[in-house]
Amino acid sequence: MIKSLLQCIRRGLAVFGVYRRRRAARQRRGACRLTILMYHRIGCASPGNSRLSVSTARFEDHLRFLQSHYDILDMDTAVELLRAGRSPQRNSVAITFDDGYADNVQNALPLLMKHEVPALVYVVPGYVGTDKLFWWDRLGLVAEATIAADGESLSNRSWYLGAVREIIERCGRDVGIAESVHALGDKFQTLEPAKRDLILDEWEHSVAAHMDSAATSRHVTADWNALRQLAESRVDVGCHTVTHACLTMLPPQAAKQEIEEARVLIETQVGLPVRHFAYPYGQAGYVSSVLPHMVQEAGFQSACLAIPGACQGSGLFTLPRVYAGDFDTRDLEIQIERIRSPIVPPVPPARPMESIHA
Ligand SMILES: [Zn+2]
Repeated sequence: MIKSLLQCIRRGLAVFGVYRRRRAARQRRGACRLTILMYHRIGCASPGNSRLSVSTARFEDHLRFLQSHYDILDMDTAVELLRAGRSPQRNSVAITFDDGYADNVQNALPLLMKHEVPALVYVVPGYVGTDKLFWWDRLGLVAEATIAADGESLSNRSWYLGAVREIIERCGRDVGIAESVHALGDKFQTLEPAKRDLILDEWEHSVAAHMDSAATSRHVTADWNALRQLAESRVDVGCHTVTHACLTMLPPQAAKQEIEEARVLIETQVGLPVRHFAYPYGQAGYVSSVLPHMVQEAGFQSACLAIPGACQGSGLFTLPRVYAGDFDTRDLEIQIERIRSPIVPPVPPARPMESIHA
């Protein structure tokens, strides 16, 4: 209720040009802001998670809006400004994409080139050139298949217990698939990867007849040729660990390896230096205080979180980013312009890695 009231107020502010006047006032004071935007997928919806995708038409609207009201900086320029402690001459944004999906090249790149806009894609080399899907896409697809399957046939499976059972049982009943997958996703995020894969393998097997076999190709990451094509355009390639690891759940040496090896793999394949990093699951609680030092020591110039905020005053290795979803341009403006509280320094996760009993 309060949230939707606030959103109405913000829409009103946007409609009456309040944000535009604030930007102009900041520019007069020489206090322009830089905001880093975080996209994931363009023109291809992740199964069961609409938050990750922006339609192609909306994305082009975003580019036109951003070009009219902001300078769009490449990440090197943005980081240089921040390092020097300077404000940009105009209010500015930088555009980033997480996870390196194939649709970034197929759908976003032509628009970025058409509008001559720089951007950066954070890739996960352990997935590049394979047909492996990220666990959240597997989860979305298997949840969709479960809706189509006979729910009774799942209830006696040994793995079908606890939180998984509770949430699956709600699928297709009074709770929507997106909400169910979202709830289950929170649980899966904190599982050991091997345990998570085992659950998904068994679950997929159980509903194999209902799985969309053509779906895999829609949700894979870009291959190395496509990433080289990106790098030859005005799109930089950044690093997002080897396996999209939740770094705070790994021993320090393994975390270090995820960061350093990813960089070497990308540089070897793409043939260009990789200077920028984004923490997988970069929300508060999933980025410990040692990780920014580790990323810096690995030779990166910057590291981005998935926590919203303005960049001025943030450390180069804890840069906030603003989520860019399938919004119209007024809501995009609100996302960028709404007042942000200062970034809270990252803290270790409050809870240990969980296991769903098999
Ligand atoms: Zn990611």
